[in-house]
Amino acid sequence: MAKNDKFVSQIADIETDFPQWYTDVVIKTKLVDYGPVKGTMVIRPYGYAIWENIQREIDTRFKQAGVENAYFPLLIPMSFMTKEAEHVEGFAPEVAVVTHAGGAKLEEPLVVRPTSETIIGHMMGKWVESWRDLPLRMNQWCNVMRWEKTTRPFLRTSEFLWQEGHSVYASAEEAEAETLAMLRLYEEVARDVLCMPVLTGRKTEKEKFAGAVATYGMEAMMHDGKSLQSGTTHYMGQNFAKAFGVQFTDKDGALKYGYTMSYGVSTRLIGALIMTHGDQRGLILPPPVAPVQVIIVPIAQKKEGVLEACSALEARLKKAGIRAAVDDSDNSPGWKFNEWEMKGVPLRIELGPRDIESGKMTVFRRDTLEKSDEYLLFEAETAIFGLLQKICGELYARAETRMHDRIVEANTLEELLRGVDGGNFVRAGWCGCRECEDKVKEFAQATARVMAKENTSERCVACGAPSVHTVFFARAY
Ligand code: ZN
Repeated sequence: MAKNDKFVSQIADIETDFPQWYTDVVIKTKLVDYGPVKGTMVIRPYGYAIWENIQREIDTRFKQAGVENAYFPLLIPMSFMTKEAEHVEGFAPEVAVVTHAGGAKLEEPLVVRPTSETIIGHMMGKWVESWRDLPLRMNQWCNVMRWEKTTRPFLRTSEFLWQEGHSVYASAEEAEAETLAMLRLYEEVARDVLCMPVLTGRKTEKEKFAGAVATYGMEAMMHDGKSLQSGTTHYMGQNFAKAFGVQFTDKDGALKYGYTMSYGVSTRLIGALIMTHGDQRGLILPPPVAPVQVIIVPIAQKKEGVLEACSALEARLKKAGIRAAVDDSDNSPGWKFNEWEMKGVPLRIELGPRDIESGKMTVFRRDTLEKSDEYLLFEAETAIFGLLQKICGELYARAETRMHDRIVEANTLEELLRGVDGGNFVRAGWCGCRECEDKVKEFAQATARVMAKENTSERCVACGAPSVHTVFFARAY
């Protein structure tokens, strides 16, 4: 087992040095590598396979909801950015601008999209003419660029992958309803696909998207008690419709502006699931997104019949729709155990001559580290299906318990500071003014993550005035 210990010790301690633990895990499990340009990352095949699984789950749900995919250009005329005043102010510090191309200076600089409200607004302005054209609901899967000086793989990089959905409706009510519906869709994906509990709610003015009337977010609690914003939806009112002339002739013959909304999740979700479920041994991947759900490790693989039995089992599981693989490399079983545990594969089947003879298989669960040799080979498909389901439920329950145990109340700034210092989310009253929000930030380095649906607090945590909103405050990534 000496090799075991060595392997584990290659990852920094999760309790005392969580940032290094995270870096070690994403690099050593080959999810990502650093790109040659500061702020960029390479998503390696194992990491990209996770993204593809997340993407497929979300894309299916969008299509069921009636949203269509489209693709808009990467380059956006600089003049578009300045059409919505708040939008340009919010994004100006982080946009990358193309000034030269084809060996010459461009007449108008082009922005590398940081998000596509402007260019999609422009196209909507062309495509929408009558109430019959509405609603128009589109989504695109693409990359965006928001300049960063540091690199935190999946959490903070200049370029990242995401989806951005954009809809235009004839009425404010419909656009607002879609903003909330998409938030619920994200919450379901977090629960059913990532096994990750989240808090959802409206963002404060300070934290909202540049140019939006209202922003809603979902926040997940990471292992260290910090919050990770994992998805946002925005109701734009007529801000972008007016800036880009998105007008339609209504049933009454009058020319009216549409109401727009947008929503997005990104490769940040991979960071979220790593920091929600991981442990000292490395990743723990939720079964719905794990590139390999079951790794089969042959025991005494040189013995006659062992590899054949492993391959036959792999084929059966694959046929049943389970992502299975056999590790028939030259490494020792112990080495393979460590490797696949670090890579977070939900289940491992150990299959050797004794198992084959007795018609059984040994199954190891990555999340609980439990091992049992009581499973019958002939009903492997049913057993593995059942276990994968069970793991989903238990991963979610475990994370949910942790989150609920770590939401504390505060009546004063001192209590709030103590709460976030202890790795908690803090529920507290707020009077609604920007100064008090800034005071919390300054005093406790915590920000308002989302507002609770109802105000259940009496006083503002910062100034003592009557509370207008109950807010979840936390330190955030
Ligand atoms: Zn106040």
